[in-house]
Amino acid sequence: MSYEAIIGLEIHAQLSTQTKAWCFCEINTTAYENTKTCPVCTAQPGTLPFLNTKAVDYAIRAGLALNCEINLLSKFDRKNYFYPDLPKGYQITQFERPIAINGSLSILDDEGHEKKVGIQRIQMEEDTGKSMHMGDSSLINLNRSGTPLIEIVGEPDIRSAKEASGYFKKIQSILVYLDICHGNMQEGNLRCDVNLSLRKKGAKEFGTRTEVKNLNSFRSVERAIAYEWERQASLLDNGQKVQQQTLLFDVESGKTRVLRTKSDADDYRYFPEPDLMPLVITQERVVKIKEELPELPDDKIRRFVTDYSLPLYDAEVLSSSLSLANYFEECLTFFDGEPKKISNWVMVELLKLINEYNADISKSPVPAKELASLVNFVQKGEISGKIGKDVLVKMYDEKKTASEVINELGVKQISDTDSIEKIVREIVDSNPGEVEKYLNGKDRVFGFFVGQVMKQTKGQANPQIVSETLKKILSEKNE
Ligand code: ADP
Ligand code: MG
Ligand code: ZN
Repeated sequence: MSYEAIIGLEIHAQLSTQTKAWCFCEINTTAYENTKTCPVCTAQPGTLPFLNTKAVDYAIRAGLALNCEINLLSKFDRKNYFYPDLPKGYQITQFERPIAINGSLSILDDEGHEKKVGIQRIQMEEDTGKSMHMGDSSLINLNRSGTPLIEIVGEPDIRSAKEASGYFKKIQSILVYLDICHGNMQEGNLRCDVNLSLRKKGAKEFGTRTEVKNLNSFRSVERAIAYEWERQASLLDNGQKVQQQTLLFDVESGKTRVLRTKSDADDYRYFPEPDLMPLVITQERVVKIKEELPELPDDKIRRFVTDYSLPLYDAEVLSSSLSLANYFEECLTFFDGEPKKISNWVMVELLKLINEYNADISKSPVPAKELASLVNFVQKGEISGKIGKDVLVKMYDEKKTASEVINELGVKQISDTDSIEKIVREIVDSNPGEVEKYLNGKDRVFGFFVGQVMKQTKGQANPQIVSETLKKILSEKNE
């Protein structure tokens, strides 16, 4: 089985504007059904769309961040199809002349080398309403109808499941950095269609592709690709042909099933939207939006490496989400040691808890200031790193400050040399037999003494000081 997969993603992102694309209805996904609607977004006869300029600004932002050319003149088109959640009978989209074209995004390939994935186009369009099926009947909620979307159409430059999810993750993080999409996949803010075809290794021509619709997690993207790859390969191995089909992925079974078979191309009878003027954007507007772009993930990674001397890996993990990067930098404002120390605690210990509880760092029960305070205690040797981990769990579970938990548990490390020396001396004096063995060359007995000291201090003695003091006192016995 020596096939190469050709993969291209189409990503739909809901724009996080206050109001809808063609009317002034509030975008509100939790409101009571059909209360955030008006004659425009319920498609009453005689109503006209009115373009939301904020949505245009957001689309331009996405275009610039993805290295696209912005079309100063673009157009809206009607894509005609019938579905109960689409009362107009068509979707307003951009077909002939989208707002942005010819962009690119760099990702890491499976060997960890940087590679560019082309962005064919970014088009502005609108979301549909939602159908809900209850028993024998179906209900329609039009609160979502007319929510502005952008569709980001990628070139078929992706070659593996890992690359695909890496690309999707990066797009998600950029959209959130740009503050133009909430990026929450469970809530449907971002959805991805996977196009995949196979060709013999070394072949030039692309094979026939299938399109898996509406994937809403990185994992589903990877699983759908693995499944389609296998399925198409076994068809080809058996001398059969891949049919050009639109598929759905079933998360339960991990399989795809056919939604529709494309005869030729789908016929949507596209034509220019007569109710909206062509979209004219001035060069000044593009320049202004470009100047106002926030720092993007790649720039942040570079800055974290140079300003904080972080390893590239840390910088990438911390910059993978804006809220994580912000949390990390907020910790630093309360900390005066090496940034790498904070990075370790955030990346390893805190993220472990956050992931365990499937929580969001921006709502972390341990505020940045408190994490920094905990790392300070460890850095000053007031508690050991090992105990620090337990303290963090308690801070997280009980929403307490670092010093509250440390006092409650009574785990402050004993670093005071005098009191450690006193304890060590007592233990050495009351175990003459062991001292004898040690002096006769039984080095292992050293561990016994350390263990005794730790037992007596409930693990709170600073291990380094214990070890130094023991050496000193035992060598005195030798004289
Ligand atoms: P359509 O409008 O029918 O969806 P497009 O030509 O716009 O078709 O392509 C849609 C997506 O399919 C793009 O993301 C593109 O990268 C991808 N694509 C095109 N041809 C192939 C192919 N042979 N194999 C895999 N993906 C493909
Ligand atoms: Mg398509
Ligand atoms: Zn409306």
